[in-house]
Amino acid sequence: MANLQNNDIVPSNVESSALAPFKNEPFIDFKRAENVRAMREALEKVRHQLGREYENVVGGRGVRTENKAQSINPSHPEQVVGTFQKAGAEDVQPAVDAALAAFESWSRTSVRERAELLFRVAQTLRERKFEWAAWLVFEVGKNWAEADADVGETIDFAEFYGREALRLAESKPPIQLPGERDEFRYIPLGVGAVISPWNFPSAIMAGMTMAAIVSGNTVVLKPSGDAMTIAAKFCEVLGQCGMPDGVVNFVAGSGSSFGNELVKHPRIRFISFTGSKDVGLHIHELAAKAQPGQIWIKRTILEMGGKDAIVVAADADLDEAVPGVVASAFGFSGQKCSACSRAIVDERVYEKFLERLKERTEKLTVGPAEENPNLGPVISAAARKTILGYIEKAVQEGGHLITGGRALENQEGYFIEPTIISEVEPGDTLEQQEVFGPVLAVIRCKDFSAGLRIANDTEFGLTGSVYTSSEEKMAQAEREFHVGNLYINRKCTGAMVGAHPFGGFNMSGTDSKAGGPDYLLLFMQAKSIARKL
Ligand code: NAP
Ligand code: MG
Repeated sequence: MANLQNNDIVPSNVESSALAPFKNEPFIDFKRAENVRAMREALEKVRHQLGREYENVVGGRGVRTENKAQSINPSHPEQVVGTFQKAGAEDVQPAVDAALAAFESWSRTSVRERAELLFRVAQTLRERKFEWAAWLVFEVGKNWAEADADVGETIDFAEFYGREALRLAESKPPIQLPGERDEFRYIPLGVGAVISPWNFPSAIMAGMTMAAIVSGNTVVLKPSGDAMTIAAKFCEVLGQCGMPDGVVNFVAGSGSSFGNELVKHPRIRFISFTGSKDVGLHIHELAAKAQPGQIWIKRTILEMGGKDAIVVAADADLDEAVPGVVASAFGFSGQKCSACSRAIVDERVYEKFLERLKERTEKLTVGPAEENPNLGPVISAAARKTILGYIEKAVQEGGHLITGGRALENQEGYFIEPTIISEVEPGDTLEQQEVFGPVLAVIRCKDFSAGLRIANDTEFGLTGSVYTSSEEKMAQAEREFHVGNLYINRKCTGAMVGAHPFGGFNMSGTDSKAGGPDYLLLFMQAKSIARKL
């Protein structure tokens, strides 16, 4: 099996019809007292488990390294969430070997069995929902609803990709030539590297991993250094749900050493990455260079940053637009790739919009995530410094600080007030670069068409919204607003698996459309077989 040329993937009598149709996991209603109680209990339970040490898991075996890394709670930076083994370049080979060994049998395991693993994962997480959310509160500072949404999306990915794998295994035969039996099958690629970000530490990490393995691949999973615990927990769940050893190999390690070498390894067949533009482009370049012994072109699936805009037309309903912009800009402290970081507003409603935006934003609460504020912390001291630097620069470039702009000095965590900067001009730093924090630029435009032009004029193209009451402007946005995920009269965050396949244009990535009907194909190759009769 030296070259992973597995020809032999016969899905065999898959009956996806027995499954209930996919439905998104409902959100937890935290207005209900019993849910508040359950969440508080889960937080207490998890609090007692903080600070444990986790091993890397390679081929089902625990592995320790000399160097350690810690994941900390950004609401209380002295609180260690977990201690991890810090793998380096030398740890790549054993991890790839374990994945290669597991590929032999996993790639031949029926699609039905692989899908059933995902369905068991979904069920397990459903039963442990509050606890799972509590880990996210501690590890990355999500408030309760944001944490729940991340868990719900994880469950959705498991249910959706399980069904998608079954659907693709049943795909129709191609055109039949006379005198032949013609077949078309999807087979796995091989061993992949899954490299995940910290901001959707459950959903994106698990989504990329499950898509890869349900398609028959095996992987080395390298989570973000800021979110290693939830990834370790997820790998535990995979094991409990019956995943064979070596199918997912969990390796904590830094991006610049372990991650880098993993991408370069000649036996890595594909890289599934979500993260920043700079790292994504670096991976793209590394992966493009064939290494000695490499016999394929590596496939890269790269989902990167955004500079997402909401365009508010003069005829917009401001009762909808203002809360939509606030939710999109400041949910999870603006640390979503889909976050609105630019409100581009028709000059005829600009002043009124700004006044109402300020008023609503100033009502938002900021504080430790376990207390369930509107905004928790930003992820790290380094992020806080970068974000404050962007605010300072925006003001130097002529922006008006309308509200916020400071770190909370009386708190130990990495808190930044929700910040609005108006009079930002097209081309300004704050208008062009991804900040990844609670900072909203407000930009004046002379009309809707000008607003769309400004919205499109960055290197990114991930999400965007328009608020308007005009059918014509809606249609214009559909034609002209060049983003992977366009929303009309609603916020630009909160994509739902199945309904809003997710991925961006331009420097936002390869437009892989996670949670959509094309996604699993990125983890497969198609084989055409013609047999003469
Ligand atoms: P990041 O700094 O780019 O890191 C992402 C992952 O890449 C981490 O696991 C990181 O490891 C690893 N990495 C870093 N350098 C590497 C290298 N040289 N080789 C291999 N791996 C390397 O991104 P982040 O701060 O975690 O996440 C925030 C970014 O993700 C934002 O730009 C956001 O827009 C983007 N994002 C995009 C989407 C989307 O769907 N388009 C979704 C979510 C987030 P370490 O942690 O060890 O450095
Ligand atoms: Mg952390």
